[in-house]
Amino acid sequence: MLVQNGFTRRDMFRFGAMTAAATLLPTRAFSDDAAVAATPDLQRTGDLQGAGFYRYKVGDFDVTLLSDGFFPMDPAGLFAQSASADQAAAAAKDAFLQENQPATGHVNGLLIQSGRDNILIDTGCGSGFGPTTGKLAARLALAGITPGEITAIILTHLHPDHVGGLVSPIGEFALPNAKVIVTPTEKAFWSQPAPDLSKSGVPDGMRPMMIAAASQSLQLTAERLQPIEAGRSVVAGVKLLDAPGHTPGHVAVHLESGPHELVYISDLLHLPQVQFSRPDWHVAFDADPVQATATRKLFLDRIASNRTLIAGSHLPFPALGHVRARGGAYEWVPATWQWPA
Ligand SMILES: [Zn+2]
Repeated sequence: MLVQNGFTRRDMFRFGAMTAAATLLPTRAFSDDAAVAATPDLQRTGDLQGAGFYRYKVGDFDVTLLSDGFFPMDPAGLFAQSASADQAAAAAKDAFLQENQPATGHVNGLLIQSGRDNILIDTGCGSGFGPTTGKLAARLALAGITPGEITAIILTHLHPDHVGGLVSPIGEFALPNAKVIVTPTEKAFWSQPAPDLSKSGVPDGMRPMMIAAASQSLQLTAERLQPIEAGRSVVAGVKLLDAPGHTPGHVAVHLESGPHELVYISDLLHLPQVQFSRPDWHVAFDADPVQATATRKLFLDRIASNRTLIAGSHLPFPALGHVRARGGAYEWVPATWQWPA
């Protein structure tokens, strides 16, 4: 039975590296060996540490968490609408973050393989956020998947750290056989001449870049775009969950196979080191911070009480774990790393 946000009853800043000069839609994204060769940490290690992908099973689905990399996030800027600089610094210290240093913000995507469908959730930053990001394509190649094998892309929303990897090194659509799924609400919001970002804390200078990136991603994918409403399934077992606030059409993704399930929480949290313990704090990048906070708490309450396994765009790699409710806030319980048998 469906209840609010599409759960079944049973289930139930600053970006330091991003500048105004950042490319609106990046030119370096999906490729194969070239992407790996351009990624020094992959050349250096070749082992699991730094390989940047993590596989596991959710029932019959093969799921691969893909790291796009990381960028610095300044807690004072991120939470400025809710907390003073001193409060943000105290929260950062409480989370064992380095004093007066930006925190590490992780960026991820998720590949879901059913045997028939290869569905990629989000595409990472491409080249728009500097050299520590834009690695999702290389990680996909390392995981043994070619861009042409991706059958569908779910864009959880149209922020630049999620659409950047849509573009190939020569400026074309990077995943030639994929349809692109986004909610009609998200498409409509960013199709306006002036999307309303008046409630967000995004610096004025960054807004044109965000709007242009979303708009260009819609233009690039226009012929293959398939709007799907939140609450509906993309394929059997893969359903979009309404999660408004971060953007109006922002969705989480529910994966279900037999008794096994996973909720990909997308951008319900951006700096989990701080936010699980301070879920009420508004995030600068939320289009509607009040709605985003209500959505965050709704999801975290249900995820905690239902003991649901989650993954997410900005959870620390390998971004897999559970949430525990504690005294009006939450705790992140990372899943134990699973070595191959
Ligand atoms: Zn994001």
